[in-house]
Amino acid sequence: MTTIGVLGLQGAVIEHLKQVNALGLNGIIVKKPEQLQEIDGLILPGGESTTMRRLIDQYGFLQPLKHFSKPILGTCAGLVLVAKEIADSDEAHLPLMDIKVKRNAFGRQVESFETELDVKGLGKPLTAVFIRVPYIETAGEGVEVLATYDGYPVAAKQGSILVSAFHPELTGDRRFLAMFVQMVKEMNPAVP
Ligand code: GLN
Repeated sequence: MTTIGVLGLQGAVIEHLKQVNALGLNGIIVKKPEQLQEIDGLILPGGESTTMRRLIDQYGFLQPLKHFSKPILGTCAGLVLVAKEIADSDEAHLPLMDIKVKRNAFGRQVESFETELDVKGLGKPLTAVFIRVPYIETAGEGVEVLATYDGYPVAAKQGSILVSAFHPELTGDRRFLAMFVQMVKEMNPAVP
């Protein structure tokens, strides 16, 4: 069975796990780097990227994640973690995706909101929940933008990495997660 891990250091871990299980997949919480070998794809959840990075260092995840070659879904803080560049910051975290992100991009006064978003490949619009979201300021040539809000990319894909600035785990609509699962299955055709 396809196994999807959720990095369980901080943030919306349980919410993602419930969605993975609801799709009939085997969801596990990844708390040790060795567990990365047991999974077919990894979700980096939303939360607080600076805190998550501190815990990534503390629990020995930095190198294993930098070299993780299976599919990754990064949501919100997870998107910040995989970005090659972060606006107004000297240091990127796992730099895996050719994007420059801006944190808390839609202003602190609008801490959270919901909107109907057209996402490429998903048909009818998705209800997207934004909580202190980053947006993608610039994206490299190899990055496919899947959705924009206010003119800025808020969902994108590059190779085996899928990201969203919004929180797909907070609604009952699992189509964005299903898109990720499809990527995982395409990379592991032998796993039923
Ligand atoms: N602003 C947060 C960060 O940069 C992300 C917010 C979230 O994941 N809801 O870490």
